[in-house]
Amino acid sequence: MISVGSGLAGVASALAAADSGMETILLEKSDLLGGSTAHSYGILWVPNNHLEKGQGIEDSADLSRRYMLWLGGERQSLEHVDAYLRYAPEALEYFERVGDIPFYPIGLSDHFYPVADGTLEFGRNIQVKPFDASQLGEWQPRLRHSRYLERITWDEMKQWGGRANERNWDHVLLAEREANDIRTFGAGLVGHFLRAAIQRGVNIWNSTSVDELVVEDGRVTGISCSHEGQQLNIRAKRGVILGTGLYGANERLVGQLVPVLDDLERALEAAAEHEEAKLEEGVRLVQRALADALGREGLAEIPTDGKFDPHTQEALLSQSSDAEEGTVIQVLQKGYTLGDRVLRPARVVISSGADG
Ligand SMILES: Cc1cc2nc3c(=O)[nH]c(=O)nc-3n(C[C@H](O)[C@H](O)[C@H](O)COP(=O)(O)OP(=O)(O)OC[C@H]3O[C@@H](n4cnc5c(N)ncnc54)[C@H](O)[C@@H]3O)c2cc1C
Repeated sequence: MISVGSGLAGVASALAAADSGMETILLEKSDLLGGSTAHSYGILWVPNNHLEKGQGIEDSADLSRRYMLWLGGERQSLEHVDAYLRYAPEALEYFERVGDIPFYPIGLSDHFYPVADGTLEFGRNIQVKPFDASQLGEWQPRLRHSRYLERITWDEMKQWGGRANERNWDHVLLAEREANDIRTFGAGLVGHFLRAAIQRGVNIWNSTSVDELVVEDGRVTGISCSHEGQQLNIRAKRGVILGTGLYGANERLVGQLVPVLDDLERALEAAAEHEEAKLEEGVRLVQRALADALGREGLAEIPTDGKFDPHTQEALLSQSSDAEEGTVIQVLQKGYTLGDRVLRPARVVISSGADG
């Protein structure tokens, strides 16, 4: 089994596959493991879970369902709601058992407690106990560090006066954790799962980007990836799981926008020096660089020459003109597509013909 991505989705899938006896490989394009999960708070919202029952908290699938329906304004897929209610508690219990993951409910209420129907003050928000990253052995230096919090737990933060009261946190304890590389929040969560996956014999390849799925007779039979400068095909008898997340695309886009920021700074310097020609050139550079970066992400301007297209354009006005009736005669705001979706329709004025 091939699991792609080393965030919680990919690692948890790899762990479950290895636990059911499959030879499993985890592929990660970054040299670091943990994905954006390592930056996260790592709080799992698991309704009607076994840990709250153990603490005498009264919850039920029905109560949780009422809250979920309230959250989604009853417009969400009921099939998905019911699947979540059934499998999230089961998954929590399963991973606690097979991965020895030390989950516990934290002192955080449901977001809309007590306003919404079906909410609880305590029990559904779950975190893991601090994780000793040295348990990862040779992989320890490869566990991604969080940009935010990774040495304190939610309950400690609450007890020590909250996020804004950092001065009064227990900095001796936090320094000790830092010295011993003890991780909390998302980095701790994915760390515990990685430790369990490694113990179950999951093979990990980092710096390995999966570029394509191999499809034979309409079935995914493997992947093609670049690994240590080579293009490799790996077959998967039992399937490929894509746990590749969403945040990577943003990182790439942000990377492309950095040179735009440089151009903008140069233009501002020219403005400060009252060099108008340079300023105009600078702004033009910024516009071109931004358009190129967004173009590489799939942004394209909607064409507006010719007949009005109601799928990609919005007519704000119709005016008599010599142009043929129904043609676009003026663009008030450019429109854009992203891939095959209309991101923003072009706002146009159309001709109502010479007598219109
Ligand atoms: C600050 C912050 C706080 C958050 N707090 C919470 C919270 O408390 N609770 C909660 O439920 N959610 C939270 N979230 C959201 C949560 O972090 C994400 O939804 C979750 O981590 C996504 O996990 P994932 O495994 O799907 O993806 P990721 O953790 O993003 O992992 C995807 C991995 O796939 C790899 N990858 C991508 N493409 C390829 C490829 N082609 N080949 C190989 N590898 C590839 C990436 O490099 C990455 O390592 C938070 C997010 C942020 C940013």
